[in-house]
Amino acid sequence: MALLQDEPDLSMCLDDRRAHLRFTSQFHDVEDAPVSHAATANSNPPAAFVPPRRVLMGPGPSDVHPRVLAAMAQPTIGHLDPAFIGLMDDIKRLLQLTFRTRNELTMPVSGPGSAGMEACFANLLEPDDTIIVCDNGVFGGRMRAMSERLGAKVVTVKDPWGRAVDPQKVEDAFKAHPEAKVLAFVQAETSTGALSDAKTLAGIAQRHDALSLVDAVTSLGGSQLEVDDWGIDAIYSGTQKCLSCPPGLSPVSFGQRALVKLMSRKTPVRSWFMDFSLVTAYWGSGAKRSYHHTAPVNALYGLHEALTLLHEEGLEHSWSRHQKLHAELAAGLEKLGLEYLVPKDERLPQLNAVKLPEGLNEEPLRRRLLEEFELEIGAGLGEFAGKIWRIGLMGQSCTRQHVELCLRAVGSVLRT
Ligand SMILES: *Cc1c(COP(=O)(O)O)cnc(C)c1O
Repeated sequence: MALLQDEPDLSMCLDDRRAHLRFTSQFHDVEDAPVSHAATANSNPPAAFVPPRRVLMGPGPSDVHPRVLAAMAQPTIGHLDPAFIGLMDDIKRLLQLTFRTRNELTMPVSGPGSAGMEACFANLLEPDDTIIVCDNGVFGGRMRAMSERLGAKVVTVKDPWGRAVDPQKVEDAFKAHPEAKVLAFVQAETSTGALSDAKTLAGIAQRHDALSLVDAVTSLGGSQLEVDDWGIDAIYSGTQKCLSCPPGLSPVSFGQRALVKLMSRKTPVRSWFMDFSLVTAYWGSGAKRSYHHTAPVNALYGLHEALTLLHEEGLEHSWSRHQKLHAELAAGLEKLGLEYLVPKDERLPQLNAVKLPEGLNEEPLRRRLLEEFELEIGAGLGEFAGKIWRIGLMGQSCTRQHVELCLRAVGSVLRT
């Protein structure tokens, strides 16, 4: 067993769950139930699902703190319950602290990181708007694909996978396309482990009178990010990376300039669900909250608890913890003969991409990490499939015990 020290005992929760299933099954007496096609096709109801106990050191999700799991197991209440409205206000405030912004439009989109991403693009782009998209990995590519689907004219700034976005190329793109209205880039490219200079890039957009749209899915909580000080106009993140929540929510924030663009659109946002001018009827403050969609109530309990944990530690402390443990992991991995993909000054502490020995069949080794050590790490994507491993040190998965387990496990499977 490779379980970490100090791991809480969750078996009580599982026992509770089994008791609950026994209780509810009284109301579904199989004998008396009318025979449906589904029932005849599968007469044995599936047993309760008990997930394995993993240590998550991939590109997300990361390990979830037991306090977050416990928060999510609290009773569901209505999404317009006065008590819930108070929780929403707290979540907004905590997200503003995490993004370092006073932006009034700061809220979690109900959906994973890609939903927040698509929502930001859908709200800011109109058909035939020109957008400059920086593409240095999988998520830059996804930004481009979303922009194209929205009918925008896309100018791509390409950088090699494994490198940060080159600000000079962005300057050049603005010179060639002064009509560009939006600059989109990924601060922390999880597919390669490269960290781009969000402050410089947002500054370039501002000088060219364009909006900056930033992917902070993997950076939020793990790397320095200053939405207001750096003049970032629109930003989205996800809960399952450095915030260490289960996946399924996407915090977003829009500044004043982004709101002006949204409110002066000539065409309505193509997606009803994602239209921020409608969602704010529910998430806006001051105004009486009214129904837009049923919020994922228990997921929001979890986000509230995860953000509380983060701010109990202190945001800046969390940034430096990621940096420090990254340095320890890097030293250990290099001792094992594994080289980093990304040059040192462009590296993302929370995603460690290392090159594998030429010709190594890596898939069985990753399976052994999972089976022998309960350890999940990430494979390479796209051009790096089979060539790199991606080791996450995100949020609750960024502890010394994680680093030590990872070095022991990776060392062991590489040796034998
Ligand atoms: C994980 C990730 C996303 C997508 O988030 P999902 O929750 O998987 O939809 C987007 N951008 C980056 C940089 C990511 O790491």
